[in-house]
Amino acid sequence: MRITDIKPLPVWVGNRNQLVVKVETDEGIYGLGESGLSGRELAVIGALQHFREFLVGKDPMQIGRIWQELYRSQYFEGGRVLLAAQSAIDLALYDIAGKALNVPVYQLLGGKQREAIPCFATASGAGPALVEDVKLLMQHGWTVIRTAPMMPDAAGGFVGDSDLFDPRASIPLTAHWLTKVREECGSEIVLGIDYHHRLSIAETASFCQRMPAGTLDFLEEPIRDETPEAYAALRKLTPVPFAVGEEFASKWQFLPYIEQHLTDFARVDICNVGGFTEAMKVAGWAEAHYIDLMPHNPLGPVCTAATLHLAAAVPNFAWLEVRVTPTENLYYGAAGVNEADLLFPVQPRLDGTVFPVPTAPGLGVEIDEERARSQEWRFWEAPHWRRPDGSVTNW
Ligand SMILES: [Mg+2]
Repeated sequence: MRITDIKPLPVWVGNRNQLVVKVETDEGIYGLGESGLSGRELAVIGALQHFREFLVGKDPMQIGRIWQELYRSQYFEGGRVLLAAQSAIDLALYDIAGKALNVPVYQLLGGKQREAIPCFATASGAGPALVEDVKLLMQHGWTVIRTAPMMPDAAGGFVGDSDLFDPRASIPLTAHWLTKVREECGSEIVLGIDYHHRLSIAETASFCQRMPAGTLDFLEEPIRDETPEAYAALRKLTPVPFAVGEEFASKWQFLPYIEQHLTDFARVDICNVGGFTEAMKVAGWAEAHYIDLMPHNPLGPVCTAATLHLAAAVPNFAWLEVRVTPTENLYYGAAGVNEADLLFPVQPRLDGTVFPVPTAPGLGVEIDEERARSQEWRFWEAPHWRRPDGSVTNW
């Protein structure tokens, strides 16, 4: 079997783009992958064009060797753009291998360790609406719930869509309402928050110290991750477990976080880290340090399907992120239709709060290419946020 083409399929789905990649072969078997570098898809498509030049004609079953060649063929190794392209190709090659051997992908990773994949939901309401959102999720059986930071507005309410973020205004308000959620919703739920790397070390310490012990079960990316030593410093200021790693592109970026125990959950993103080939290595490394995976999964059904196979195959797994729940649906377009349902006629389906382990050969996801061509990719920028003094902060 030989690779005959690498086709980027950039599509607009619901309220964001997805970059699906199709790898075709001379035997008619094809594979699907997805790239995770949201907002810079054109850069990834450029990398895919470079890779296509030397991948056509290669044996798609030599997945590990192809990974090495993709990573090491350029003098300038690694980086988030190249690894996002590489991830999509790696996922597609595993899809091809699974289909060629007539087995689900998890079977190529050592077989399944569990029958269902537990998930977490996100409640992003502010103030009393957050408490209601958490209660709604609990009514639907959700027990692991992640929340989002809040910002007060001048009228005593909460800022919705705005480009303004003031950490010192957000911290007391968010800490107050998380404490309220814990009081009202009980100690049984697993409660976390994603601060989207908007804080400094000092701000994160203040935030954590404003809540009673036991309020938070995990704190996702309070600060940026370029400097592992910063997390080491933060670790001394709070006992709250950290969840870090969704932006990491390769095992080498996970290395200090795992070896120095700077994260308690590995937020591996299979569409950014380097596909199955790299995610399985990160998983094994994390296992040796008793760190569970809590995969990042904000993309499309190809990412979800791939992550389910990873989740099935590793022993050290916590929860998978899902973004289609009673409190949100990333795939809803302007017409109120779940556009991912139309675009991906075959895809994994949530059963309550878990995904059954997929059973079809390969990844178990199919795209309607004709529809993909009609749902054109759009220029989209992540919000550019500022602090009250006008300086730049992260979205
Ligand atoms: Mg996050």
